[in-house]
Amino acid sequence: MLQQTQVKTVIPYFKKFIRNFPNIKSLSEASENKLIKNWEGLGYYSRVKNLKKTSKIIVKKYSKRLPNNIDDLKKLPGIGEYTSQAILAIAFNKPFIPLDGNIERIIKRLLNLKSKKEINKDNIILKKSFLGTSERSSDYAQALMELGALVCKPKNPLCESCPVIKDCISYRKKDFNIVVKNKKKINKFFIVKIFIKKNKILLIKNQKFSFLKNLKIFPMEEISKPKNFNNFLNFKMSNMNMNIIIKVTKVQKKIKNSIWIEKNKYNNYILPTFTKKIFYSLNKYL
Ligand code: SF4
Repeated sequence: MLQQTQVKTVIPYFKKFIRNFPNIKSLSEASENKLIKNWEGLGYYSRVKNLKKTSKIIVKKYSKRLPNNIDDLKKLPGIGEYTSQAILAIAFNKPFIPLDGNIERIIKRLLNLKSKKEINKDNIILKKSFLGTSERSSDYAQALMELGALVCKPKNPLCESCPVIKDCISYRKKDFNIVVKNKKKINKFFIVKIFIKKNKILLIKNQKFSFLKNLKIFPMEEISKPKNFNNFLNFKMSNMNMNIIIKVTKVQKKIKNSIWIEKNKYNNYILPTFTKKIFYSLNKYL
């Protein structure tokens, strides 16, 4: 849940989710619709689908207990290097330090890493050994995360409250600027088609695009950059900057995997935020 989202935003979602699915068995038996409904607003829906797949494997193959080794954890859907290390450290007290943005910043500041070569991911992983280990791996991993989030903040770090101030090269140099690799969003262009029948609007189950897979979206197609591209909507989605033209159009033939939903009742449906935002802006076009 915390991927790309702040803790304070996630707390109410987490509480609701845990209330509705209090254990691994209830999670594994929940319908996909119910799960998506409980995830609505968090985005990145593949995560909740992976949670369901993983919970089923854990119930069947591991007698409802998470495996406690990195190889088995990494085989589970949705669990990669970072998550497996976080689970091993936090849940099993094993000597791992999951490299999140906060811990990465501490390493960069402690060692004043600046050049392209120094901030390369492989080098940061290598330099992680500088943080050492602790018998209390669970507390240590969480303490490092908190140190990054609350003390060694991206802007204006609170060095006077920092327990590692004596070892910090950035503090000695009074140089706190962090160099980050630019993850540039790719500009993409789409035409979104609005089919209307009386008061209803057509949505399809997305099987065409890799984003929002199997979720309900408006029929749309990707286009190359149009010459006069001014009246458009803009959405950010993972690594994309989506530029969208709305076209109200007539249905000419039957469209596969489609449903008609009432224009003013879209909130009653399980829809990704992307689709809801387009609904919200439709008044301008209809
Ligand atoms: S001394 Fe300052 S810059 Fe260095 S790790 Fe601590 S908070 Fe970050």
